[in-house]
Amino acid sequence: LKHQSVALIIGVTGIVGNSLAEILPLSDTPGGPWKVYGVARRPRPAWNEDHPINYISCDVSDPDDVKAKLSTLTDVTHLFYVTWANRSTEAENCEVNGKMLKNVLDVVIPNSPGLKHISLQTGRKHYIGPFELIGKIESHDPPYSEDLPRLNCVNFYYTLEDILFAEVEKKEDLTWSVHRPGNIFGFSPFSMMNLVGTLCAYAAICKHEGAVLRFPGSKAAWDGYSDCSDADLIAEHHIWAAVDPYAKNEVFNVSNGDVFKWKHFWKVLAEQFGVEYGEFEEGQQVTLQELMKDKGAVWDDIVRENGLTPTRLEDVGNWWFADFIFGYPCPLDTMNKSKEHGFLGFRNSKNSFMSWIDKVKAYKIVP
Ligand code: NAD
Repeated sequence: LKHQSVALIIGVTGIVGNSLAEILPLSDTPGGPWKVYGVARRPRPAWNEDHPINYISCDVSDPDDVKAKLSTLTDVTHLFYVTWANRSTEAENCEVNGKMLKNVLDVVIPNSPGLKHISLQTGRKHYIGPFELIGKIESHDPPYSEDLPRLNCVNFYYTLEDILFAEVEKKEDLTWSVHRPGNIFGFSPFSMMNLVGTLCAYAAICKHEGAVLRFPGSKAAWDGYSDCSDADLIAEHHIWAAVDPYAKNEVFNVSNGDVFKWKHFWKVLAEQFGVEYGEFEEGQQVTLQELMKDKGAVWDDIVRENGLTPTRLEDVGNWWFADFIFGYPCPLDTMNKSKEHGFLGFRNSKNSFMSWIDKVKAYKIVP
């Protein structure tokens, strides 16, 4: 079989990496047939094994490991960069994330002469500011469009873009795209920010303990409009930009194209797990970090009693992230630019929410 395109996914067990690994090898995927290499740090987990890809364990923060494992790949045509590292300050995030991207590009660009396109994923914090500054700096007025100027602060997304723009200059005809999702709904027990998986773990613990599914967040998040970005839709958006000439050398937002309210989705979550639905309680705000601390042993019991795939609660329950999402109103973006450039994909967010919950159950991450 002669492949038309060869993908290298950096972060293949992540929330979007796992969707790219599932979608790229399909026979009807644009630009295909695709041969796929996928990189992540840890050994390949069982839930990633169904995807017909070449899995490579490599720590991209280590330049020697990148040289050893990736310099032998000489046929890559498309690079999908869907990884990141989380440090305690944004200055450190800029440093470590910048190095990771540079390590990969320094090896892949010279060794793969057929490289055509680099697709970089950043996110909506491009417009809001880094975690450490949210609420402390003035950000843009939503809905966010791609042409808004950068904020006057450090942001590792800006560092990544600048490295990308400088590196693509080094090779003729090498194109790029930047993808800015909002909060992602997808599947990955290894993701650092997986809201659906986190909520499933929380609901499973409530069920196990006979507790009410309390809403850990603000009134603004409960009552206001929110949106999300489906991981499969983001993968389709990356692939669209990789193959469509109208999408080259552009930055795009990527979100489902509808809005929802958490007070409605909270009922869906409670129903899916058969737990008692808790309303937003004025003046009673709780955090998941507080509610779920010391639940590691309870989780281990749930996993054992139900014969689940072995996981650690600190991997599947990203409590800090859910507390962050529910702590603020959700600033919306606009998909006009993607549509104007020809990407008409969308998702019904309620169906998206339910189908990812189903997948978390189907892969036996929760009962
Ligand atoms: P993720 O945390 O889901 O997955 C990261 C992947 O990279 C995993 O496969 C992990 O094993 C791998 N990885 C981590 N460090 C590595 C290393 N040193 N070497 C090799 N592999 C390594 O990632 P994500 O959430 O898709 O994040 C990609 C980008 O999307 C980030 O810039 C993030 O800020 C942004 N984003 C994420 C969300 C979200 O809800 N998850 C929302 C908006 C934007």
